[in-house]
Amino acid sequence: MAFRAVVIGSGDYPRESGIVSYSEIGESARHFGLVLDSDPLWRQDGGGCRVLTADEVRTPNGVMTALEEEADRATHQDVLVVVYVGHGALWKDVPDAEVHFAVGSSHQRKPWTWLSSWYVYRVMRQSKARMKVLIADCCYSNQLKSLGGRPEAGSLGVIGQGKGTCLLTAVKGSDSLADPNGCPSLSDGLAGCTPFSGHLLDVLRRGTDDYHSHLTLGLLRDAVEQSMAGCDQAHHEPRMLLNDAHEKYVLATNRMDPADRRPRPGNPVDPDQWVATLLRDAECDLEDLLRDADKTGEVVARLSANRDERWQSRAQAVADRAFRTFRNAPDALARYVITLDRAQAG
Ligand SMILES: [Zn+2]
Repeated sequence: MAFRAVVIGSGDYPRESGIVSYSEIGESARHFGLVLDSDPLWRQDGGGCRVLTADEVRTPNGVMTALEEEADRATHQDVLVVVYVGHGALWKDVPDAEVHFAVGSSHQRKPWTWLSSWYVYRVMRQSKARMKVLIADCCYSNQLKSLGGRPEAGSLGVIGQGKGTCLLTAVKGSDSLADPNGCPSLSDGLAGCTPFSGHLLDVLRRGTDDYHSHLTLGLLRDAVEQSMAGCDQAHHEPRMLLNDAHEKYVLATNRMDPADRRPRPGNPVDPDQWVATLLRDAECDLEDLLRDADKTGEVVARLSANRDERWQSRAQAVADRAFRTFRNAPDALARYVITLDRAQAG
């Protein structure tokens, strides 16, 4: 199962095109490449991120040829993500009244020089990928159609069982204009990206304090919304439309240190609660407990102090897990052993 992305970012335009150039567009595209390629989940099984070159983003043909190559490579196991960062436009008086994306050779007043989102949808629809995600950081992205439904309606059809689509856009509601100017509150190069991409990349790079080890579609949406709403700069509200894709589908690794994440709701906290939980449920998840070597030693001591067979077997199981977890971490192992000895002696 591979995660693959195609990133289209076209930010440089000659003056005569009438389109404004923004360095934030190219920077956003470049950072998508860096951030996704450094995610362990994205490095598995030949996955990865293809950031289209300046030459590829110059023409609709360049973009579509590259996109088709990547879409065709995706198997039934794979996730296909398409990212567009740039200028969007919508003309009502052309045969194909869909959102159009600017490419390097586009001209402000010439709709036929832009890439219709319909072609992007068409190639994504034909891909075999298990899940398809379109991230659109541009003006009029609030007008993009849901990635799903009837193909003849110009939207992205869902093929087969268990497949789904997700559309994540920079703007929602009635205001169609996306802000291109970087957010100064972001750090480590992300202030040079567009605000939506910058905040999204910040969440991908830092993770969230949710206890899950992966970022799902729902967690990603919530974290980006919170990050933008809580920023000291005013930002648009992003939008996510899901079509047969579940909020719990995984898109990336949650890179926040587990120690900094909130505990799993309802999880035991103190040693007595752990003992009670272990006696009730031998299969309970020990991940939270094993983050604290002292507490683990305390729990094993309390369990082993009772001669009852059930207590003894639980003590042995936790001790085995503790040894496997701490054997490569001498400090943690030492704290575990010392606490265990002290508790058993007391
Ligand atoms: Zn911000």
